[in-house]
Amino acid sequence: MLGQMMNQPLLISSLLTHAERHHGTREIVSRRVEGDIHRYTYRDLGRRARQMANALESLGIATTQRVGTLAWNGYRHMELYYAASGAGMVLHTLNPRLHPDQLVWIADNAGDQAIFFDATFLPLIEATAARYATVKHFVLMGDRSLMPAETRIPNLRCYEDLIDQSPDHYDWPQFDENQASSLCYTSGTTGNPKGVLYSHRSTVLHAYASIAPDALNLSSRDAILPVVPMFHVNAWGLPYAACMVGAKVVFPGAAMDGKSLYDLFEDEGVTVSAGVPTVWQGLLGHTEANSLKFSTMTRTVIGGSACPPAMLKMFEDHYGVQVLHAWGMTEMSPLGTVCTLKGGQEDLSPAEKFAVQSKQGRAIFGVDMKIVDADGKELPWDGKTSGELLVRGPWILDSYFNRHGEDTLRFDAAGLGWFPTGDVSAIDPDGFMQITDRTKDVIKSGGEWISSIDLENIAMGHPAVAMAACIAAKHPKWDERPLLIVMKKPGAEASKEDILAFFDGKIAKWWLPDDVVFVDAIPLGATGKMQKNKLREEFKDYVLPTA
Ligand code: ADP
Repeated sequence: MLGQMMNQPLLISSLLTHAERHHGTREIVSRRVEGDIHRYTYRDLGRRARQMANALESLGIATTQRVGTLAWNGYRHMELYYAASGAGMVLHTLNPRLHPDQLVWIADNAGDQAIFFDATFLPLIEATAARYATVKHFVLMGDRSLMPAETRIPNLRCYEDLIDQSPDHYDWPQFDENQASSLCYTSGTTGNPKGVLYSHRSTVLHAYASIAPDALNLSSRDAILPVVPMFHVNAWGLPYAACMVGAKVVFPGAAMDGKSLYDLFEDEGVTVSAGVPTVWQGLLGHTEANSLKFSTMTRTVIGGSACPPAMLKMFEDHYGVQVLHAWGMTEMSPLGTVCTLKGGQEDLSPAEKFAVQSKQGRAIFGVDMKIVDADGKELPWDGKTSGELLVRGPWILDSYFNRHGEDTLRFDAAGLGWFPTGDVSAIDPDGFMQITDRTKDVIKSGGEWISSIDLENIAMGHPAVAMAACIAAKHPKWDERPLLIVMKKPGAEASKEDILAFFDGKIAKWWLPDDVVFVDAIPLGATGKMQKNKLREEFKDYVLPTA
């Protein structure tokens, strides 16, 4: 016997309809690439998204065909999020920080029919336009004043013209909630990037889960500033969650430096933000240097790579801003765990609370996780034993786009498929998960594992260290030993001995890095993460003093 409730599909367009009706006057504020601040409301967003949906159809883009974007966080990008997916097409966010060859490869692999791009990327599109195999339309996201007088781009169109020429009446189509809605490629540190194809259902369920109090705790009273780019896992789903709750949204555009972000936080009364640790480093550098505090920000989501404990402490103790340490992946839409204290943990001592908060957190409902050994045997949740982390759930990838026939999942005895995250972690009896490493980053010393993240976190606590990466260096006796690569803060002084002494008492003696190398810069990938694969390549023949 089936239940007798309405079978209404979970569609992305319904988020926008809801926001327009119930939060029509709530603001969306954007720092534009034009340089000014633009503000309008959810009502305007709804109207213009409908106009854009009409425009996309008039360009001849059909259901489930891909609409590429190459854009910063801003209101026009948000219009495309809703127009393309809402009309039944697939929004494909391209990461402009990738190499042009890789961009072209990804757009071809996705079969993009159009590329909408911010004026910043005009030179990039000029240089590559002739190389896209499937793209029929290029649209510059601005008004006539931004259009180049001369161009080599075929069929270059103006975004505001498309809007002006399109009626604002559009009935969002109803279809199967499992239909594809958006596409995002993983950064691909090895091999070609792989496409993760989200559905309407997975996106709406992820939004429901992300707003919960023990997740990101979002409400209509919030003003959300996503620093995490809209080309990186849909800005961690915030453009959807914002519509669901009717929060004010503040978009930083292309200006990601500490001062620009800080000014926007203060001017717009931002209550919650989200980004990778490297971004917050820039922000904290600015506030520290100018003795500034946050007057409205209550919390910030930090994820994408491990939040160094020193950063957590700084935000919480010095600025009174709660850190929501979160873990996830492009393949997980991306939220898997968020670190918030459980009932009963309020009474822990500050040091005990801090130890909990440094972890990546608890699974949000919808995400099931387990850790396994090399034979796939499930390991205990004792907070000490670590193993490979596997996950499953309705917003977790089943198979990659365009790569049918590949074995992506691992099946258990009951026949359930689990996605192997490639992360190594331990889970404590309260369910708090702590990432100790990526399977490929872990340092294997004499058969035992050393966590590169733990060593980096400690090094980052040293006052002279701006960034630290720990990689495995070859060793004749132990196979691998930790080599610490350090980028110092500008003008700061520290010797190898100072850095190594800083580890005293913080780790087991045999974990101590065998050497420290100072570098001018640590390479960052397209999503702001340290590229340890590049460092491994650079230091592959490094001879340790202990070797
Ligand atoms: P994301 O958009 O979350 O950065 P990616 O797919 O680019 O997604 O990278 C996912 C990987 O990033 C994870 O498998 C994990 O190794 C790492 N990661 C994400 N969040 C954290 C975190 N809070 N702490 C440690 N590592 C993290």
